[in-house]
Amino acid sequence: MYTDYSKADLDDRLAEREWMVQTQLIGRDIADEEVINGMLIVPRHKYVMEEKQEYAYYDTALEIGVGQTISQPYIVALMAEALELKSSDNVLEIGTGSGYSAAILSRMAEHIYTIERHEELAHIAKERFQSQGYGNIEVRVGDGTLGWTENAPFDAILVTAGGPVIPDTLIDQLAIGGRLVMPVGDKAEQKLLRVKKTVTSELIEENLGSVRFVPLIGTKGWRELN
Ligand code: SAM
Repeated sequence: MYTDYSKADLDDRLAEREWMVQTQLIGRDIADEEVINGMLIVPRHKYVMEEKQEYAYYDTALEIGVGQTISQPYIVALMAEALELKSSDNVLEIGTGSGYSAAILSRMAEHIYTIERHEELAHIAKERFQSQGYGNIEVRVGDGTLGWTENAPFDAILVTAGGPVIPDTLIDQLAIGGRLVMPVGDKAEQKLLRVKKTVTSELIEENLGSVRFVPLIGTKGWRELN
């Protein structure tokens, strides 16, 4: 499990996190207390480059290098809430990016397996998890559209990049009763979908709204961009 932050770390920019949670999460429709607490605690400014830290608690996505982004706080909260996590859950995330969403999820579930295709991002995220004491997050470099078979089935799967369809590999690796959240659409705009797998392996799909994510690039996603 994770170790908790020191008082000094918790106090560091706490007022801005309180403002972010109040105006951007509670002020909209986020009600899950664990999501709210996680976002009050996890220092988002430590998940962005130094030159972006000033904007870490703004209502916006931010660049994290290699053309990728850390998602807007509200979207992170919306996705985390939609996963309906339990403390015993085994979770797969595709698109580690900065590591921020994995840190939020790791406070709500048993274990997080997260896959990132860019080695440099995976490396930085791993260092963040180590320095902040997150012992329940495992990072792998690779094509997340293929999932992580050795650790399947997953109670929840979060895909933080937009693809044309939900990869069948991920549906196969979702446990009975599991929830998968993923942006699906074209490269300009997607619908944030939640799929639940019922006891009869039927899939129940819900549209949580329109979003704009960076592309999911891989065997079961988009082809490599030029
Ligand atoms: N969860 C991230 C965070 O909290 O910072 C947001 C990540 S960003 C919106 C999406 C990430 O998905 C990018 O870092 C991108 O490199 C990664 N990505 C895209 N296609 C991927 C794939 N097939 N496998 C793994 N990662 C992928």
